[in-house]
Amino acid sequence: KKIIITIDGYSSCGKSTVARQLAKELNYIFIDSGAMYRAITLYFLQNKVNLHDEAAVNTALAAINLSFVFNATTGKSDMYLNEVNVEIAIREMYISDNVSTVAADAAVREFAVAQQRKIGEQKGIVMDGRDIGTTVFPNAELKIFMTADIDVRVERRYKEVVAANAGITREEVKQNLAMRDHLDSTRAISPLRKADDALVLDNSNLTMAEQLTLVLQWVNE
Ligand code: C5P
Repeated sequence: KKIIITIDGYSSCGKSTVARQLAKELNYIFIDSGAMYRAITLYFLQNKVNLHDEAAVNTALAAINLSFVFNATTGKSDMYLNEVNVEIAIREMYISDNVSTVAADAAVREFAVAQQRKIGEQKGIVMDGRDIGTTVFPNAELKIFMTADIDVRVERRYKEVVAANAGITREEVKQNLAMRDHLDSTRAISPLRKADDALVLDNSNLTMAEQLTLVLQWVNE
């Protein structure tokens, strides 16, 4: 039986890496919900949408079409914003610096969550994010909450972003992670928190293979 698996947790805990591997192993669809908030943020910055102007936000959201398109070269899905591949653009640091503010907006969340639930109508989904187990799929069959030591997370994230962000320092990466974790866990609408029925995966000292073994065990329980 195909199920819904949710993976939530702090920034750069390796959620999407686990989610992607798991989806591959189970032949499920992997959805990176953070990419959707990043694409919305890109659109809002490009079009100078004022978050305090409710009408402007609604007009902007009505003009946004998000889709995931499988990329045979990378073997991953790319995020498309209005038919343009924005997979690279949404990983830039200025998006990371602004995304948590955009993601705290009520209308933005309503828009993203509706699309995430629609995708979830097809079973066999692994979706990672911040509120997937608590809000998007409160009835998911398996919920995972990931954590890792802050220094482990900084090191991982630094290695990911250094190529695309020349001159970036570990301290800047740490500031960004700390800021996003703070905003994500203190916002008014569906803040980041562990669902009561989520299983905790602390991967500070686990290899990818060890994490996958553990999670597959949970799937089969
Ligand atoms: O997962 P990723 O780090 O790419 O997510 C970027 C940002 O999008 C998060 O810091 C958070 O502000 C927002 N987000 C969210 N809810 C989700 C996924 C991401 O608010 N389900």
